[in-house]
Amino acid sequence: MPAHNAPSPVLVLVPGIVGDPDGGGEALRVVDERDAQLCVTDLGVTRGEGVFETIGVFDGRAVNMRAHLRRLQRSADMIELLRACDTDQLDLGLLEQAVQRAVQEHDDVPELTVRIIVTAGDEADTRPFAWVHARAVDDWTQARRGLRVVTLDRGLPSTVTATSPWLLAGAKTISYAVNMAAGREAVRRGADDVLFTTSDGYCLEGPTSTLLVRRGNEFVTTPPDAGVLPGTSVASLFADRTAAGARCREALLTPQEVLEADGAWLLSSVRLAAPITHLDGTELPVDRALTDHFNEVLRGR
Ligand code: PLP
Repeated sequence: MPAHNAPSPVLVLVPGIVGDPDGGGEALRVVDERDAQLCVTDLGVTRGEGVFETIGVFDGRAVNMRAHLRRLQRSADMIELLRACDTDQLDLGLLEQAVQRAVQEHDDVPELTVRIIVTAGDEADTRPFAWVHARAVDDWTQARRGLRVVTLDRGLPSTVTATSPWLLAGAKTISYAVNMAAGREAVRRGADDVLFTTSDGYCLEGPTSTLLVRRGNEFVTTPPDAGVLPGTSVASLFADRTAAGARCREALLTPQEVLEADGAWLLSSVRLAAPITHLDGTELPVDRALTDHFNEVLRGR
């Protein structure tokens, strides 16, 4: 429950997610989140079959909306979410409207988190179930100042997307229990967050974030085919840095190479750019001015 006087979250159901809703009903509908919505036999609940996106909204503007929607479709394709439907396309235009509606319905706040979730729907049905939920964000001030990060082995090789595509590495599915467990392991080890590594010794991503590393005038992130989510935030910062004359590229780096770098960040759409202050206990340089600049770019300014 939100704290007293906190702005109320907004929930928009999207019955028209793959075309006309049954019975010609509304394509999207604002409802009270306290009323039961989800069927207990929804495959999202019983099998974890669903995909999601989390979009940052800053001063009322949803940042990188189209990129998030494209990635939602990519994740849906990867898990064959619409296999029982007569279309393989989510109505991304309708989802965009649902996001805008949720933002309009919410109280004006500087930062809003908007989640889009699409599940495979009820076991007995063929229609996916979709909703958009907007809520005022947690306070990320501390994380944006810096994170103590530990590396944790994800147990998969850097070749995983080629050798074992059924493991769905790089799909943004709602099965995030492993990611959350890794976060708790970081806390047990006295850290704030995790940098996953491959079983063959390369850096991947955080449980909810992308790795960005600076080496002089070069910025490096993990290649998606190593099994990471292609980040929207890193794409924005690559565009910004390329325009500033830097070289930006995807490459596999070892933890030792990150330790020898001129700076590293964990990036995501809501927490934004969080500099890594320590990796496995070793201090890394932090460029506050560049971090502040990154966070202006990621707010869409
Ligand atoms: N990697 C994972 C596993 C994530 O869950 C996320 C975001 O939630 C990211 C990377 C960062 O993606 P983006 O910058 O698009 O928010």
